[in-house]
Amino acid sequence: MRPTGRLHLGHLHGVLKNWTELQRNYDCYFFVADWHALTTHYGDPDIFQDNVLDMVIDWLAAGVDPDKAAVFVQSKVPEHAELHLLLSMVTPLGWLERVPSYKEQQDKLHQKLDTYGFLGYPLLQAADILAYRAGHVPVGEDQVPHVELTREVARRFNHLYGRGPGYEETPRPVLTEPKSLLTEASKMPGLDGQKMSKSYNNTITLREPLDDVVKKIKTMPTDPARVRRSDPGEPEKCPVWRLHQTYSDADTRDWVQQGCRNAGIGCLECKKPVTEAVTAELEPIQQEARRYEKDPQQVKRIIATGCEKAREAAQETLTDVRSAMGLDRW
Ligand code: SF4
Repeated sequence: MRPTGRLHLGHLHGVLKNWTELQRNYDCYFFVADWHALTTHYGDPDIFQDNVLDMVIDWLAAGVDPDKAAVFVQSKVPEHAELHLLLSMVTPLGWLERVPSYKEQQDKLHQKLDTYGFLGYPLLQAADILAYRAGHVPVGEDQVPHVELTREVARRFNHLYGRGPGYEETPRPVLTEPKSLLTEASKMPGLDGQKMSKSYNNTITLREPLDDVVKKIKTMPTDPARVRRSDPGEPEKCPVWRLHQTYSDADTRDWVQQGCRNAGIGCLECKKPVTEAVTAELEPIQQEARRYEKDPQQVKRIIATGCEKAREAAQETLTDVRSAMGLDRW
């Protein structure tokens, strides 16, 4: 995850809940992608100041367990950079130019990003994955092409360099082709019904004071057709309904559907169960976060331990990669 600073409910439901589930069944590596942040924000070194620690605090508070998963910072594991460089020797330029997000991102950012780093970021991602011989990469639909590119790069590498003695016919896999582990996109709406995102200013952050959370939900827009309490409404046109879809059980959702359409309930009444559910979800996270805020050294220690574990695994891969490319033959 790029160091975006404090995380919000969209991250919690779209990513972190998935991570805490994955760490129970897999050997996981979760890292702060600070080099990736530089591919688009190279002119802004201040982004790292508070964002790295703040983001890791949110991960830990939300249940990422450093005893189960390696939690680390990309730039502290230079093997990512070495593997990126070595893979760049064998990756055709056209493979990077055709990654769908390359052109899309250029358009979205309203800035001409014609740097070498930006074009190469999917290859840096490939290195991030291949360094750990990852079997699976948890991704949303839009990231599948990146995992595909990673598989192609691994295949090409193995084809070129996996022909040691005894392997002349069938290349010996030096790198592992990973599989995408598709994760469902977050359905968490922002306070205005659009996707929850810092750039839309419609978020509830994980460490937002609970009084403010209550106020924000209270003032959330509803179906514009419900001007008066007696006007019937349509949940499908209301962002509050989308919160119910995430937070409420079947009975409560029925109650909303009926009560909204026949004007049997008011909007404030309707918001009450989601307000309670969101605050109940955030309370323990905030308690944990306060514990880490008071002891940033502990967070730094967790990151240092994660970096060590990550380096160890990545160094093993790099030893094989260097050897396959002939770099150790002198
Ligand atoms: Fe939205 Fe609930 Fe009001 Fe209907 S009753 S408009 S679903 S807040």
